[in-house]
Amino acid sequence: MFFSWFELHFKSIFPSEGSNLQPILVGRATAEANARRRMNLLYRLLTPSLHDPRKPSLKLNIPKTVLRIVLICESLGLTVSAGDSAKGDPPSSSREMKPPPRAKKRRFAPIKIANQIPMRRRKEIEKALGEVGESPTKWSRNGGTKNHVFMRKRIKPGTIRHMEFDLLDVEIGESWPVPISVIHGSRPGPVVTLLGAIHGDELVGPLALTYLCGPNFMGPDRVIDAGVLAGTIRIVPIVNLPGYRRMIRDFPDGRDLNRCFPGKPDSNTTSRVAHKLWSKLISTSDYVVDLHSAAKGRTNIPQIRANLAHASSNRIARSFGIETILDSEGPRGSLRRVANQEDIACITYEGGGSDEADPESVQISMYGIINLLRSLRMLPGYPSKPRFRILASGSVWIRSDQGGLLDVLAPAGSFVEEGEIVATITDPELPGAQHDVVSPIRGLLISSATHPFVNSGSPIGHLLPVKRGVTTLKRRLDDEGCLIISGSDGEPPWREDEEIEDIAVFGEWSGGSPDAEWGPAGSTDEEEDN
Ligand SMILES: [Zn+2]
Repeated sequence: MFFSWFELHFKSIFPSEGSNLQPILVGRATAEANARRRMNLLYRLLTPSLHDPRKPSLKLNIPKTVLRIVLICESLGLTVSAGDSAKGDPPSSSREMKPPPRAKKRRFAPIKIANQIPMRRRKEIEKALGEVGESPTKWSRNGGTKNHVFMRKRIKPGTIRHMEFDLLDVEIGESWPVPISVIHGSRPGPVVTLLGAIHGDELVGPLALTYLCGPNFMGPDRVIDAGVLAGTIRIVPIVNLPGYRRMIRDFPDGRDLNRCFPGKPDSNTTSRVAHKLWSKLISTSDYVVDLHSAAKGRTNIPQIRANLAHASSNRIARSFGIETILDSEGPRGSLRRVANQEDIACITYEGGGSDEADPESVQISMYGIINLLRSLRMLPGYPSKPRFRILASGSVWIRSDQGGLLDVLAPAGSFVEEGEIVATITDPELPGAQHDVVSPIRGLLISSATHPFVNSGSPIGHLLPVKRGVTTLKRRLDDEGCLIISGSDGEPPWREDEEIEDIAVFGEWSGGSPDAEWGPAGSTDEEEDN
């Protein structure tokens, strides 16, 4: 007798009934028989009893051609497909056995979307995406690669040029030249412009773009290799150089460059700069990524802001590979709003705060840019994708109702429940008095205050209401309840090679070479030198 009792699952697959799983206790095979043989013997044993009214546990009334037996016993772990079992012919030898066909694996699991965008807006986005083609048609791969002409200079395919771009056209006085790197690929493709420090005190962008132009990322056999690049990348690490030098957000005339686009050639200073940037740099781009940080006294978790109803902006917003995407047109006069109006794809990345160099925000933005370039097929390799995305079209500011000094309990990135205490306020003039600041709703804190001084009305947190996808989101929280953002793992990549300290050891190789000691015993090398 080959069988005693063992446990099986019957899984019958009917197009009409769907999956019908019924566990039945049937038998246990002897240890000697191989798994496949056991399955076939078992099948033969079971088949006559399928319609036997005397054996109620096996009265399944299942056509045997669609019967599938799945062993749940781990040691057997073998699936018999309906086809080969139904024939009732056990294979003549184990050599003829074919392994079950492997399930087609997706390269990426589908990304879950915690979509907080209202249905009306979602329909607008879907409609807009339906109307516009998938990719821009300004460039073509027909006709090979041409020189890239920028600022009256011809840049040959497969080369990198570092040059200066004057923000102002003057004959005498300060022209504010800003450094720009143009990487013109050896293959045709789109023009991508990467901008940092439109606000002079936001340093995450300048750091990320400087590292991207550094030896760990750019050059032969590096991620950005002009020899294999398709298209052109223009990198301006610091747009607002006068503001950067003064460590201030705005231009020296007190205006915010990111509210002055597209600018005018005969208006105020900042407007003239905006016009120059617009006409020479932005209007000739296919894709623009503008890197920012939170304003003074706050910090942002890495996030993308984009008008998702603009098709190509929607595409690059997703391709950046991070979880949080805020759907908005952008303020009036902002670069991305004006660019989208002219049908140029433009997204804003926000990460960290002004006057700080948050390494995580820098790293995530660098990986995001590479993801974007890979997704546009400008660079070889596959972009990495987040486990899920939160698409949001609205937010809530948590504001203080009291004045004093702040102790933030839930930092940016925290997932907070309604009524949870996110911060406390104390007053040095009234020791012992304390006021709790509670979250008005459940959601993700995408920004929080870093400056402790608050008045009534001061913003303390910027909260994304999360109603859908809460379970998915909670799976990606760390021990402290903060969202783990894609691209934040691992050591900062720009430190590679730099951190390894060389320790010089002086002397001579005993045996004449480093490998001599490991030669065969009694080898001449050893004898010569020792
Ligand atoms: Zn900014």
